[in-house]
Amino acid sequence: MSMLLPPFQLHEPASVEDAVRLKREHPDSDWVAGGTDLLPNYKWALNARPHVISLARIASLRAIGPERIGALATLRSIAEHAELKAKLPVLPLTAGEIASPLVRASATLGGNLMLENRCFFFNQSWLWRESKGFCKKADGDVCLVVPQKEKCYATFSADLPAPLIALGASLVLAGAQGTREVPVRNFYTGDGMERNVRQPGELLTEVRIPRSAQGLKAGYKKLRQRGSWDFPEMGMAAALRFDGQRLAEGHLVANALETTPVVLDRLLQPLLGQPLTDQAIAGVAKQVEDAVQPVKNTSLPPSYRKAMTRPFTKRLLTELRDGAPLSAGPHHRNGHH
Ligand SMILES: Cc1cc2nc3c(=O)[nH]c(=O)nc-3n(C[C@H](O)[C@H](O)[C@H](O)COP(=O)(O)OP(=O)(O)OC[C@H]3O[C@@H](n4cnc5c(N)ncnc54)[C@H](O)[C@@H]3O)c2cc1C
Ligand code: SF4
Repeated sequence: MSMLLPPFQLHEPASVEDAVRLKREHPDSDWVAGGTDLLPNYKWALNARPHVISLARIASLRAIGPERIGALATLRSIAEHAELKAKLPVLPLTAGEIASPLVRASATLGGNLMLENRCFFFNQSWLWRESKGFCKKADGDVCLVVPQKEKCYATFSADLPAPLIALGASLVLAGAQGTREVPVRNFYTGDGMERNVRQPGELLTEVRIPRSAQGLKAGYKKLRQRGSWDFPEMGMAAALRFDGQRLAEGHLVANALETTPVVLDRLLQPLLGQPLTDQAIAGVAKQVEDAVQPVKNTSLPPSYRKAMTRPFTKRLLTELRDGAPLSAGPHHRNGHH
């Protein structure tokens, strides 16, 4: 089995309207933006299609601002954007901790939001998958991780959606019937194959962030296996607003553990109106650990990823409360537990 790309016909529309029309004419197609996720998957013959519609020529989708970011904005341009750094620093920090500088130069926000879920039995070459037996996410009809279940457990592995959910952002989708706006927190749903509520003909055009998000203290921390080249093994996003010492608003999202980001705002609800004490933070951290259910389909053991949610939550909430300088990724493992 070669590692060559399977043949496909490439379409390069210059407007959203043309892109949506092409999609209607060629339903058996995929969008491609930076190609840093889609093309490796095509090389491994993971659900490759005969038509690929490139978004690269739609320049209007590259704009970046604190209330709207176009789907084609690159992760590098988000990481380096001065106004975002000043007004919504969690986004440049998170974007700057994804993959490598070379990947970030091509990788886009839209591609990150639509990143294919990952599984040890899925992200493999065709030959490898043939030798182990195909699974239902590509070419087969069983799940090799949780065999007795009907669903696919492939892990949600994109970093930017979790902080965007915490900030209250929405997605704009353009389709043949016009456009619609969906809160990011309602977008991801279903199992590792269904993944989200996007209709097949819909194109993600931009992300909208409410101006009020600029008054939140927000952060994201991720667990990775070997530093910046790896996908998240677990992530935690939070956005808090304080009224003096008291917690006035709180959003918490556990990431890269299940088939979608896990919104846990309910754990902060009982703390609203009160000072966020160390004891309260420890209580929330324990409840996060109890709430999440990773399965064994990434590099690190699920028990370890689950256990690490507790110190990550504790450290993130404490840093946001105390106003400590934030960074997305000091948590590199050094080889052994
Ligand atoms: C070495 C390496 C390390 C990586 N590490 C990380 C990591 O740590 N964290 C992380 O989050 N990601 C990581 N990635 C994944 C990925 O490269 C990025 O998430 C990137 O942002 C994907 O963007 P893209 O434009 O290249 O997507 P593409 O490959 O072009 O597309 C990805 C998917 O999104 C769909 N899509 C793209 N744009 C749109 C749109 N506007 N509307 C609808 N659907 C669309 C495509 O059809 C495709 O299914 C890594 C990738 C590599 C190669
Ligand atoms: S969780 Fe199961 S069905 Fe989903 S990709 Fe992995 S092996 Fe396949």
